Order: sequence, then C-alpha cells, then structure tokens
Amino acid sequence: MASPMNSPGVPSGLGENVLLTKLDDVANWARANSLWPMPFATACCGIELMATASSRFDLSRFGAEVMRFTPRQCDLMIVAGRVVMKMLPVLQRIWLQMPEPKWCISMGACACSGGVFDTYAVVQGVDRFLPVDIYVPGCPPRPEQLIQAVLDLQSRIKSGGTFTGKEFSLRILPEGPPRFEPDEIQRFQDRNELDLKRPTYTPEH
Ligand code: SF4
Repeated sequence: MASPMNSPGVPSGLGENVLLTKLDDVANWARANSLWPMPFATACCGIELMATASSRFDLSRFGAEVMRFTPRQCDLMIVAGRVVMKMLPVLQRIWLQMPEPKWCISMGACACSGGVFDTYAVVQGVDRFLPVDIYVPGCPPRPEQLIQAVLDLQSRIKSGGTFTGKEFSLRILPEGPPRFEPDEIQRFQDRNELDLKRPTYTPEH
C-alpha cells in the first residue's frame, strides 16, 4: 500500500521525519522509560536494591536508575524490606507525597507478606496499605528479579493509561490509603491465644 507520505504534494523526505501516533501512547512510552524510584529500603533487601543500581547490574539500562529521596520527584515506590507498624505512617505519607501517576513494587518476602516476621509489630504485606503493582518474591530477591519487575511494570504502563491520567485517581481513595486495620492486632491476639491452648508435645525419655 502506498504511504500517504509519498502522495503527490507531500514534500520529499517528510516520511522519514514525521511519526504518527496517539497521545496516550506517547504518554505511556515516556512514563515507562523514565521511572524515578523512591527507595524505601528498610532491611537486607535494600542491599540488593543498591546492587541493582550499581555497575554490575546497571538498572540505568532500563531508564529507572534515578533514585531520589524526595517523594515529589519520584513515581516508583520500591518497598525493600520489612515494614513495622511504627514505620507505616511514614511510608503512607511518602506515598501520598508522590505525584500521580505512580506505581509501587513490593520487593522481597518481608514487604510482600511479612516474611518470617509473623508478629504483630510487622506489617504482613504492604499491599494492605498501598496499591502494589508488582510483587518480587524471594529472601532476598536477586537484582535480576528486580530488573524483571521493572520490565514487567514498564510493559504494564505501556499497555494502559491515558494522556490525562484520569484513571490513576481511581487507584486510591481521595483521602489516601486506609491508615490502619483495627483487626490487625486482634488477629494476632486471637491466634496467640489459640497457640497457648494448643497441647504441646513433650518427648518421652
Ligand atoms: S525478604 Fe529476606 S532479605 Fe528481604 S528484608 Fe526480609 S529477611 Fe531481609
């Protein structure tokens, strides 16, 4: 099929200099390839996060190495490590300070589910309080896994989203994520009571 750029009246050379696309696609392309992470690294997973940005793994190959510690400049929250209840309001505040559109990667077993720290003091999965887009399993996950998570997130960003970004306002409540789940502590208390009532095994000598 003849290209409209080769039609009579169209200046020669225009075909190599004009690109037709949709505004939504341009916005998604720019968003996906210029992720600025906000590292919320609280424990050992943070070391793997640092390694991911260093020369050996070189996250900058994928345009996501510009880590900033000012949430207003960031659009990708990476929670790397366990989050305790006391830290949760800080995490939520940082998330709210990040401008939309923004995304969240939960890195490691602790951030995804509390990991081995099954106690009342540790958040049993940050997705109870933040909208997590990608989960990275492992204890700790390797840097390659985090890179894969970034690539998956980029595909996801490219496949959705609009130029105006109106859909992002639907992701969280206007007043932000829920501050605290009152049944969180109750759940652990109930379980501990059950554990106390459970008969214990004593080996016979
Ligand atoms: S998932 Fe493992 S490596 Fe990561 S913070 Fe938890 S204990 Fe540390």
